[in-house]
Amino acid sequence: SSGSAGTSGTRFDLEKETELRFEVEAGERAQLELLSGLAEVFGSELNRNKKYTFGPGSKIAVFTWQGCSVSLSGKTEVAYISKDTPMLLYLNTHAALEQMRRQAEKENERGPRVMVVGPTDVGKSTVCRVLLNYAVRLGRRPTLVELDVGQSSVSVPGTMSALCIERPADVEEGFSVQAPLVFHFGSTTPGTNIKLYNKLTSSLAEVFSQRCEVNRRASVGGCIINTCGWVKGSGYQALVHCASAFQVDVVLVLDQERLYNELKRDLPHFVRVVLLPKSGGVVERSKDCRRESRDEKIREYFYGFRGTSFYPHAFDVRFSDVRIYKIGAPSIPDSCLPLGMSQDDTQLKLVPVSPGRDLTHHVLSVSSVDDDAEVGAGQSRGILESPVCGFIVVTAVDTQAQVMTVLSPAPRPLPRHTLLIMDIRFIDLK
Ligand code: ADP
Repeated sequence: SSGSAGTSGTRFDLEKETELRFEVEAGERAQLELLSGLAEVFGSELNRNKKYTFGPGSKIAVFTWQGCSVSLSGKTEVAYISKDTPMLLYLNTHAALEQMRRQAEKENERGPRVMVVGPTDVGKSTVCRVLLNYAVRLGRRPTLVELDVGQSSVSVPGTMSALCIERPADVEEGFSVQAPLVFHFGSTTPGTNIKLYNKLTSSLAEVFSQRCEVNRRASVGGCIINTCGWVKGSGYQALVHCASAFQVDVVLVLDQERLYNELKRDLPHFVRVVLLPKSGGVVERSKDCRRESRDEKIREYFYGFRGTSFYPHAFDVRFSDVRIYKIGAPSIPDSCLPLGMSQDDTQLKLVPVSPGRDLTHHVLSVSSVDDDAEVGAGQSRGILESPVCGFIVVTAVDTQAQVMTVLSPAPRPLPRHTLLIMDIRFIDLK
């Protein structure tokens, strides 16, 4: 960027097993260059003499196992070297998982299924990224299962997904997202519809297990599951459910001893529950900060990431050409439920949405379900279990003409006609 052009940057010399931590100021960018030695960012190796650019608000750690020199330029809020990092413990964790993969290979078994848990802002996503990077750098093909509906690293917020990792994460952009399996959840907290959350967790586990049966490398690679920071009440129950659905072998608990003890008590004895410290570098993010990064994720979906620009399309969709649903009816007292119906049924029920002005700015998932699939009497008939093939945003609604204008990554027509509404809104300022 022009702001930092010409500034030569500050040189940092790092001893082995230390890291340079920095945060990029809001609205600014920072540039990083490896001058000598070896270094990595969250498990992805840096190339020498290449300038890496980090966008506004990025929080980065450049770690070195051997020692290195780097140059940092641009507007950073903080930039300091820390000798106190848990990376050696994370590397040991990786080594133990790799041991399990080797064992699996030898004995024709499946590789480790790992669930990473802990409260918000303890570095769960970062630990997942490091472990996946180390595995793929050894030639493994692990799967990332993303259950954090607030801050998904794979798709837009409000989704639950799985992604086969085939190469290390790009230092600037993260994992390349080709052909992920994405399910519609519809909101940024599991608590909005815990039944649906658990059901989709089971669906992902089923698809992953099926893939492992036909793909030996996926089976040996195992999976790393990133979870939500909600670790109490139903949030905790959702973790226990996930452990059982995926038949996890290892649970990595970041930072919270109480959670560690609870999981040790409640999970079967053959599950290895490990307590790991969080990194002192992990920065707590404010509500605003989280909202901004959710917004950014949606903007990226439509407009691309710095390097690669996408050009989304705007077109009109007739109400009569689509069917829009919300998943989950508002819960009603047990005593008022129709005979033979349970609360589960209401949470998983498809509720038809009649398009109106209040649809404006909502994100809608385009379901891959067959257009002819019959949807009777509020029954889901496969819609819940069908992955999503894309997302659109409603930018305007004309009730008179019975049409809505949508923002879409692809030109008209929509690939499918079943749309699922999210609680999440996106205001397109472009
Ligand atoms: P969680 O998934 O638990 O919410 P994240 O892994 O997303 O936490 O980490 C929160 C933020 O801290 C992210 O912006 C991440 O880039 C940053 N971060 C993680 N580890 C470090 C570190 N060692 N130094 C600096 N920033 C870090």
